[in-house]
Amino acid sequence: MYIDGQWTDARGGRRFDVTNPATGEVIGSAPDGDGTDAARAIDAAARALPAWAATTAYARAAILHKAWQLMMARKEALAELMTTEQGKPLKAARNEVQYAADFLQWFAEEAKRIYGETIPSARADQRFLVAHQPVGVVAAITPWNYPVSMITRKLAPALAAGCTVVLKPAEATPLCARAVFEVLHEAGLPAGVANLVSAADPRPIGEAFTTHPAVRKLTFTGSTAVGKQLAREAAGDMKRVSMELGGHAPFIVFDDVDPTHAAKGAALVKFLNTGQACISPNRFLAHARGADTFVDTLAGRIRAMQAGNGMDPATTIGPLINEAAIAKIEAQVDDALAKGATLVCGGERLRSNGLDRGCFYAPTLLDHVTPEMRIWREETFGPVAPVIRFSDADDVLAMANDTSYGLAAYVYTRDVGRAFRMFEGLHFGIIGINDINPTSAAAPFGGMKASGLGREGAREGIMEYLETKLGGWAV
Ligand code: ADP
Repeated sequence: MYIDGQWTDARGGRRFDVTNPATGEVIGSAPDGDGTDAARAIDAAARALPAWAATTAYARAAILHKAWQLMMARKEALAELMTTEQGKPLKAARNEVQYAADFLQWFAEEAKRIYGETIPSARADQRFLVAHQPVGVVAAITPWNYPVSMITRKLAPALAAGCTVVLKPAEATPLCARAVFEVLHEAGLPAGVANLVSAADPRPIGEAFTTHPAVRKLTFTGSTAVGKQLAREAAGDMKRVSMELGGHAPFIVFDDVDPTHAAKGAALVKFLNTGQACISPNRFLAHARGADTFVDTLAGRIRAMQAGNGMDPATTIGPLINEAAIAKIEAQVDDALAKGATLVCGGERLRSNGLDRGCFYAPTLLDHVTPEMRIWREETFGPVAPVIRFSDADDVLAMANDTSYGLAAYVYTRDVGRAFRMFEGLHFGIIGINDINPTSAAAPFGGMKASGLGREGAREGIMEYLETKLGGWAV
């Protein structure tokens, strides 16, 4: 753990093991902190706050810029660590380190653009002045699926805004978190400004974050169930919250596009990170006219995928994070097949060629999925592509919106009017139109409905860490 500028063990002296999900091997360990460790990290962040908030935006930007340079310089080592700890293929890990570094660079720049404004008053003798100030100590909780970029997406804007931070990474990926904090330490971040607390059991840390009076803001990325619980707990002290939660993205293919092209995009985005992404498509709505070609092309792409250890250059799809992830996928696939879905390919755990040591599930394609099936509603977080065939274009918007989630949606159409109607009518925060990667440090990321509150990245991302203060002046 990293508290008040020092590398430190948990007060209780315990540690927990970290395993490689591709091999089951123990690759390291991390301090197993508890509520008292969280409290001392929060106290350190509170002590560091006044001086950090008083630094110039230029000084904060310089440190973030240095951190960006350091992260870029050690891209390969970070990518290898990520593949070993989290499982994604090395190429995908490199892309993630780049994305993570982008947030450091983007918010180094945004630190200098925390502009206020003046507002005309109806009174001749009055002026209004609006200024933005850091919210204070921020508590952050991050997931394992993007173990480096989810950290910088929170830390970079918080630090740029002048906040101090305590972060708890996911218990599956504490080594990546440590590597990010090594970068911040070497970049010259003052003691106490960013603190790292790891734990095998997240609950006591979460409780400290939501109840310690010095914490003014909780930012969380993870499941909707945990997000709701933390938001309820944080409400007791009216702490501000940002919640980046689950998703259930529709991927709509109209009959005015080449279904082969759409299927290639579908294969790329669905199996990214083995489907373990909150913006992963969870329902493919294909117009009946091109559906056979769409399904055949997608199946061909899936059959060509090579599951394995992400360190092997031949691997195109890595393992799931743990046994629970496999069990959830098996339950959803079994349910869909029992209710009449067609299994086109996959549909089983992979055990041969040494894959039995890790958590591998075959990339899977289900056709003729219907609303009665669990997979229509439940987030899968795994390599399963469920296809639904539709014939009436007027129905598809309602079908796509038939979910409690509202994070990402994808639309393939060449009709400009239809693209606009879909963009406006879809109840999702991120819409990819003929595009499978609508994300960037410069673009606002976040969801509606059960997918959460607030936005990360972009201009909006820094506002999440700022209070608005109004001055009304008699002159
Ligand atoms: P997932 O199912 O993807 O692992 P979780 O929501 O369980 O999603 O985990 C996301 C993050 O939330 C992780 O850092 C995890 O440790 C943390 N977490 C899970 N449960 C709690 C809790 N009760 N209090 C605080 N943090 C939690």
